[in-house]
Amino acid sequence: MENNKQMRKWLDDFNLNHPLVIAGPCSAETEEQVLKIANELKNSDVSIFRAGIWKPRTRPGGFEGVGEIGLKWLQKAKAETGLLMAIEVANANHVKLALEHDIDVLWIGARTTVNPFAVQEIADALNGTDKIVLVKNPVNPDLALWIGGVERLYKANIKKLGVIHRGFSTYEKTKYRNNPEWQIAIDFQSKFPDLPLICDPSHITGNRKMIQEVSQQALDLNYDGLIIETHIDPDNAWSDAAQQVTPSVLKNIFKDLRVRKESDNADDFTKNMNKKRTQIDEYDAKLLEILGKRMKVADEIGLLKKEKNVAILQNKRWNEILGKMILDGEEKGLSEEFILKLFKAIHQESINHQEKIINK
Ligand code: PEP
Ligand code: MN
Repeated sequence: MENNKQMRKWLDDFNLNHPLVIAGPCSAETEEQVLKIANELKNSDVSIFRAGIWKPRTRPGGFEGVGEIGLKWLQKAKAETGLLMAIEVANANHVKLALEHDIDVLWIGARTTVNPFAVQEIADALNGTDKIVLVKNPVNPDLALWIGGVERLYKANIKKLGVIHRGFSTYEKTKYRNNPEWQIAIDFQSKFPDLPLICDPSHITGNRKMIQEVSQQALDLNYDGLIIETHIDPDNAWSDAAQQVTPSVLKNIFKDLRVRKESDNADDFTKNMNKKRTQIDEYDAKLLEILGKRMKVADEIGLLKKEKNVAILQNKRWNEILGKMILDGEEKGLSEEFILKLFKAIHQESINHQEKIINK
């Protein structure tokens, strides 16, 4: 997949002075519901109306979407409002029906991106069309799988591509429904800076109270757009009730969001930034120097352990270090989550070094 400005032409063609906004209900429920929401979103920052027609539910027995009939409602909504229409597709038949009903934007859901067979089937069914296609991240935190999905569409001559970051599932309960793991989306952005990146705060948070905060975080990271589930009566929505907002709440969210510039050319800004960046570079160099020294000591310990045939892993000592570092880190304003990640990585590197020494 080449990386060029062509990839974002479809987005630039919207000619917006703000990030792209996609909004609409999790699911199309009734014709009246679709038309009411779409009309309330007309003449706002929203450019694309979303609605799920076939819903991938975790367990059977829930509402699985209205199916084909909903596509007719979307056609009506488009005629009434001029908004572009977006739906989720999970197989070739969905694509066929979407094309027959002039749907403008198709997105591939998180549960579909995990499956290369399904993505390929969708790519083949779309080959040669000029639809906008957005690929959600797979449910598991796997950047290669996400990129692979986009590549399958690119190879099928789909040029209007973009990705949606909707977070990743975890076994442990966290404050998010799907943990954002921002670093994965940042990696995607570094690899393909011209591929439009859209954030889905609804599925990341699972909670309407956090939509504003996560949307702002996305804009702070240069995201190109937001997709936000919007319903006239969120509490009684047939799916994802807790995370949907009303059109008027959505408009208030936009009022408070601050769009950041990618950079600023003012002299004093550049000067101050350069000064701070030099400081950061110095500290990074020191960090590496210290880590190198620490690893040398670990090597020496490895030699001692080898001499006496002692195991590498010393769990009691390790847990003592970790406990102390969490407390010391807190005093320096470093989160427990960060300290755990950092020291587990350092510890693993020490183990790798000692493995080499002991088994040489
Ligand atoms: C949705 O957008 O309603 C949806 C099912 O999302 P995801 O694929 O991110 O779970
Ligand atoms: Mn949903």
